[in-house]
Amino acid sequence: MRIVIAGSAGFIGCHLAKRFLADGHEVIGVDNLVTGQQANIDWLGEHRAFRFVRHDVIEPLQIEGPVDLVCDLACPASPVDFALLGVEILRVCSEGVRHLLDLAESKGAVFLHTSTSEVYGDAEVHPQDESYWGHVNPIGPRAVYDEGKRFAEALITTYQRRRGLPIRLARIFNTYGPRMRLDDGRVVTNFICQALTGRPLSVYGRGQQTRSFCYIDDQVEGLVRLAQSQYSGPVNIGNPEEITIRQLAQEIIELAGSSSVIVEHPMPPDDPKVRCPDITLARRELNWQPRISRQVGLQRTIDFCKQLDPQVLQQAAQGRLFGSTAARNAKPATDVKVRR
Ligand code: NAD
Repeated sequence: MRIVIAGSAGFIGCHLAKRFLADGHEVIGVDNLVTGQQANIDWLGEHRAFRFVRHDVIEPLQIEGPVDLVCDLACPASPVDFALLGVEILRVCSEGVRHLLDLAESKGAVFLHTSTSEVYGDAEVHPQDESYWGHVNPIGPRAVYDEGKRFAEALITTYQRRRGLPIRLARIFNTYGPRMRLDDGRVVTNFICQALTGRPLSVYGRGQQTRSFCYIDDQVEGLVRLAQSQYSGPVNIGNPEEITIRQLAQEIIELAGSSSVIVEHPMPPDDPKVRCPDITLARRELNWQPRISRQVGLQRTIDFCKQLDPQVLQQAAQGRLFGSTAARNAKPATDVKVRR
């Protein structure tokens, strides 16, 4: 196949591209590098069947020649991005998605979109299955992402209903692994950087809140199976195994062979208590479920981080990198025109 991946310089996008290349496909990566990493593009550049196009998908995208599959992973995705890249997120979830849909339609390609568990918002059901409509604040600080992704789902399903476009809709839950950005404030990389540099691991409250983490190779397998399936409704792809944050911290300290201790910080008001996917549908429709144990996944992520520049690890562990990519790439507020 000839596959376009928007967001190919990002964490999940580069792994998905690597997998398609390994399977013998041709991949055209598209990215504006707003939160992506040049190192990920260099990693993919080892393959002759990979080509990179630097492009912001809020502008129309033209690709020469046939395309069989358009994968849309282009969207800043971490909470630290929401404050600084709010307008960019809303635009990529609306204008960007539309341009990628138009590309897929003009090429007769399948359109695979990466939505998110955040469409369920501060969920009132647990675990969340695809039939749940969500509980989202449309004007809160997370709205740019949550509502952006909900709008994207509405747009994509409209292209399917009105124009017959074949769509695949993944709702991704927390995913981790090598090549995550160290500055995006996510708990797995925070803990790993703190453990590797001997700093205390910071948990909120007593650390009893639970999360579920899917290793990147499992996530990619789920996305590939979804792309190959005929199923066009939303499908949760994540790991249903829950763990408390304190237990995660302990596991990382142990696997990293670290002498770090755990320290408790006051609980932020909006920290979700629980988040867990119901993956019954993915099991049934895709014959998919996570296979990689947390121990193996965390060890691989720790080993990857060990090879990084120790100075960068120190800065990340101290929170000094926090939000640095988003801050560097956010457009000045004067670019946003407001009519009064
Ligand atoms: P990421 O920030 O690492 O990757 C996103 C990529 O999209 C970056 O390379 C960025 O530069 C690019 N991008 C953003 N706006 C763009 C634009 N206008 N034009 C071109 N490129 C643009 O994030 P990720 O964690 O790899 O997430 C990938 C996708 O998966 C996103 O759509 C995200 O919403 C979704 N997702 C991720 C998670 C997770 O746990 N990582 C969870 C749920 C959903």
